[in-house]
Amino acid sequence: MEPLTIDVDEIDESGQAWQADLPREFVDSALRGEPPTEFHAAGAATVRARLTKIGRSVLVQSRFTVPLEGQCKRCLKKVRLDEPIDLTLTYVPRAGPAPEPPRRAGHDRAEPEPAASFDAETVDEEPYSGKTIDLAPALREQILLAVPPSPVCDEACKGLCPTCGKDLNADDCGCEKTTLDPRWAALKSIQLEKKEK
Ligand SMILES: [Zn+2]
Ligand SMILES: [Zn+2]
Repeated sequence: MEPLTIDVDEIDESGQAWQADLPREFVDSALRGEPPTEFHAAGAATVRARLTKIGRSVLVQSRFTVPLEGQCKRCLKKVRLDEPIDLTLTYVPRAGPAPEPPRRAGHDRAEPEPAASFDAETVDEEPYSGKTIDLAPALREQILLAVPPSPVCDEACKGLCPTCGKDLNADDCGCEKTTLDPRWAALKSIQLEKKEK
């Protein structure tokens, strides 16, 4: 796959568009992160981003969708969705042996302030070294954060009847449901054991 890297020297100061393909394998590996989701990629995705450079800091703003497929955890129907992924991140050069930035009064933290900052309050910062930025780790993390852990076809999905397997979204099967609560089942078996003794 093409590398998801940005050459900082090549970014226009006035901002520019950037685009890259995310192969299905990339999306799949992101979905198997920690904790893994129960989705898999339904295809490849395309990342479209806006890059803005101030000094050596680079603001990356991106919104794209990843096509996902999974199985509803309640009714086992196939779930297909396009999950929107937002990525807004400022890459700041990792402090090197370069000139020490001026220190604010009453501010004696050891680490130097980044040379340029967009809005540290709202935009996450990520350090980078050298002159290339690798977007892959941030993209992977953002996909994992945005995707729900398990697929549900609908928040109101009633699932399958544990007794007869009927899809309860279509019709109620009339099976007795209360006896199937595992807590009751456990109680019942305890009572049976007592009687046997
Ligand atoms: Zn369902
Ligand atoms: Zn039933």
